[in-house]
Amino acid sequence: MPDYHLHTWRCGHAAGQMEEYLKTARQKGLTEVGFADHIPMYWLLPEQRDSSLAMREEELALYLAEISRLQAKNPDLTLKVGLEVDYIPGREKELALFLNKYTFDYLIGAVHYLNGWGFDQTTQQAAYANKDPIAVYHRYFSLLKEAALSGLFDIMAHPDLIKKFNYRLVEEPNALYLEAAKAFAQAGVCVEVNTAGLRVPAREIYPCLSFLKICQRCGVPATVGSDAHQPDQVGYGFKEAVQHLKLAGYHEVTLYSRRYRYTHNIVNFKW
Ligand code: ZN
Ligand code: FE
Ligand code: FE
Ligand code: ZN
Repeated sequence: MPDYHLHTWRCGHAAGQMEEYLKTARQKGLTEVGFADHIPMYWLLPEQRDSSLAMREEELALYLAEISRLQAKNPDLTLKVGLEVDYIPGREKELALFLNKYTFDYLIGAVHYLNGWGFDQTTQQAAYANKDPIAVYHRYFSLLKEAALSGLFDIMAHPDLIKKFNYRLVEEPNALYLEAAKAFAQAGVCVEVNTAGLRVPAREIYPCLSFLKICQRCGVPATVGSDAHQPDQVGYGFKEAVQHLKLAGYHEVTLYSRRYRYTHNIVNFKW
């Protein structure tokens, strides 16, 4: 079983050395892990970047080098090189130039900002109170679609992150899920089943089961990740994640190597 969404101390708000993440992966019987730490804040001037939110730019080469060094040292595990990449509309060219300087196994695209509002940050949570929830959901999902269709990413991170603090709509936004899933299918990106949702007020895997079912029906492949921000969170909630995938009709999860995808069967997964 792979875990494709691991952070490290380098992003400034996660704890632990890469080696400690590998140790938990081994203990939990995972065969493959991918690091996906937060991309340097490429859309801001260096002096405006917050080193508690993302990796500093000078760390990126060290991050990549450490993964290859650890791969050589840990031949029993397959290590993948990923990155969690913020989608900022209008900054696609800048981002493409930045990403082209390196080689990755996969890129996880994430919407964490709505017009500069970091809606998934605990410190910015109060802003929900002054906003129209329907407008917020529409804006979130339209950016998510735009991110998928940008062609810059392989996987769409925690695709219903907007539920994080439990600001929910009265009716489940199935029409928004369907539009997003169609965009994912058209763009050829995967949906990420991310267990971090279980650890936040929403108390539910990202995406929720109805959204995941819609993705499955649209032919969108899935990856799985814990979004671990500390070593003991590697593989967190994977029993639930596999059950979630199976309930949605998936028989496999997707793996990546140098941005080409292949599959891993989950039918016989036992934990
Ligand atoms: Zn993070
Ligand atoms: Fe994220
Ligand atoms: Fe993450
Ligand atoms: Zn994340």
